Amino acid sequence: MNQVDYLRISLIDRCNFRCQYCMPDGEELHYILKEQLLTNQELLKLIQGVFIPLGFTRFRLTGGEPLLRPGVVDLIKAIASFPETQDLSMTTNGFLLANMAQKLYDAGLRRINISLDSLDPNTFEQIIGNHGRGRWQQVWQGIQTAYRVGFDPLKLNVVVIPGVNDHEVLNLAALTINKSWHVRFIEFMPIGNWQLFGDRGWVSSTQLRQIIRDHWGLKASQVRGAGPADVFQIPHAKGTLGFISQMSECFCDRCNRMRLSADGWLRPCLLNETSQIDLKAALRAGISTTELQLQVKQVLAVKAEINFKQRDSGIVDTYTRTMSQIGG
Ligand code: SAM
Repeated sequence: MNQVDYLRISLIDRCNFRCQYCMPDGEELHYILKEQLLTNQELLKLIQGVFIPLGFTRFRLTGGEPLLRPGVVDLIKAIASFPETQDLSMTTNGFLLANMAQKLYDAGLRRINISLDSLDPNTFEQIIGNHGRGRWQQVWQGIQTAYRVGFDPLKLNVVVIPGVNDHEVLNLAALTINKSWHVRFIEFMPIGNWQLFGDRGWVSSTQLRQIIRDHWGLKASQVRGAGPADVFQIPHAKGTLGFISQMSECFCDRCNRMRLSADGWLRPCLLNETSQIDLKAALRAGISTTELQLQVKQVLAVKAEINFKQRDSGIVDTYTRTMSQIGG
């Protein structure tokens, strides 16, 4: 297995969108109470006192919607200031980005992934849960601002859902031709909305690549991501196309990450709900960071076993947490 040095940190489980593929239809989500969230101080203590000593150098802030987290700019400043931090990035829906991009950049954030599942405002509204008009425009403005401010690489995440946005694959891929934007197609996973998954199914990366290859041709990119994406390029394009194929492939051997939820649960694998540990409860019970390092080390030691052999253990029928709750 790869060395595990990358922590995805969920800052909050709430989101200002209700994306169809992420949230269960018509059900109330049970949000984490404010007092159950890791405070900024606790989070920084875990990063500095537990994860950095264990060799973690790369951090991604996600959620829910990370830009909804109060004090997110200060948090970025603090994480970026640790000398061991080699990479600090964020996954966001981009809705609040137009006003925040410069502040985030000045605080030390350099890489950003923005979810953009459609270029058609109506389809977009449908996917994000019809919160009203103008959301697509605001996200698009957020993307343009982030690009102007200098975020590099700027990645756009697309979950492809049959009959919803699969007809837009070429238009979305075309965004990489003239700008060094990186579009990443993510296979739809049965987490969050089983009903939609059952109704619609998913489109494989192989199918998507064929559609793109038939139109422009496609070559393997020289740019190699550190993560699970297979990276390709339309000939002569400035940006790249990434394909994240967790449904059609097992890339556990390339997995280099763990996930920390907003309420302090550390999970070794996105798809596994066993072997997670409650770091917040441990911190609040006064357990030292040295002892917590040992506990995290134990989780690291069983990660390979969990990835390859127990991917579905601990799951009865459905995953109990959505991506917005785990930290996508
Ligand atoms: N709110 C932020 C955003 O929209 O990017 C960050 C959190 S969101 C949960 C992170 C990523 O998870 C998004 O790119 C989203 O597309 C992806 N995601 C959520 N549910 C998914 C599912 N069922 N299958 C595949 N990807 C999913």
